[in-house]
Amino acid sequence: MALPPPEQPPACRRENTRRFLASLLPALAVLALLAIGHWGWALVVFWATFVVIGYGSILPSSRLFGPHVSELSSHQAQKNQVWITLDDGPDPQTTPALLDVLDRYQSKAGFFLIGDKARRYPELVQEIAKRGHLIGNHSQTHPAANFWILRPNRMWAEVAGCQQTLTSILGFAPVWFRPPVGHHNLFLSVPLRALGLTMAIWNCRGFDGVEKNPQRILKRIARSLKPGSIILLHDGTSTCVEVLEGTLKLLSAHGLQAALPERLHPPTPAPSLAES
Ligand SMILES: [Zn+2]
Repeated sequence: MALPPPEQPPACRRENTRRFLASLLPALAVLALLAIGHWGWALVVFWATFVVIGYGSILPSSRLFGPHVSELSSHQAQKNQVWITLDDGPDPQTTPALLDVLDRYQSKAGFFLIGDKARRYPELVQEIAKRGHLIGNHSQTHPAANFWILRPNRMWAEVAGCQQTLTSILGFAPVWFRPPVGHHNLFLSVPLRALGLTMAIWNCRGFDGVEKNPQRILKRIARSLKPGSIILLHDGTSTCVEVLEGTLKLLSAHGLQAALPERLHPPTPAPSLAES
């Protein structure tokens, strides 16, 4: 049975209450402008807010609502290293085959796992760690459609819930987080900081979540592949094993090597989930 997510520390609650109140200011400004008859200015404020929040939330590369990493350090780039990341597992249909492909190519990857799936297949989570791969937090339920508008309490439950699930299976806490579909949220950086998590996005992908043709996926990956790339792939798709193998062949053709990020690896001990 799933454990309830740990209690949100008071300091996080206070910070997110401040952010929530600040997020209401544009709406209050629009109402005030409408009340005094400045319809034009009300529209300007409304659309400006919409554009800024949309840009900050939906665009994976945006840093408006908090920092993230989108490529490996220059030190690792100089060594021609890249980081392959696989989102949305574990999946009993595909994860074992992905692990075998990685072993065959003597490569390591980062698996960003969904807490609910990890709870169903703990033996797969342990197997990923046993084979020397990195495990990251990809939220407890993967609310892809509304992650960017989640309220503070739900955001805490998503991040801390997955962290608790993975920590209880692994015996150590992940240090990397990837948001569902790469979206951001005004209330995300608070739980990340409290739980010692760093957000990792990507700078190379083939849209394997929507594209069904492995050759087209690999062509897109090849176009943006460079030393230091963080490559986004997915576990659980019908083509994921073929795409991973194709990506590893691409790396060898480009003289690149799949590696894990040096920073924050190996995992650090879990910070107390209850500290404030
Ligand atoms: Zn995902």
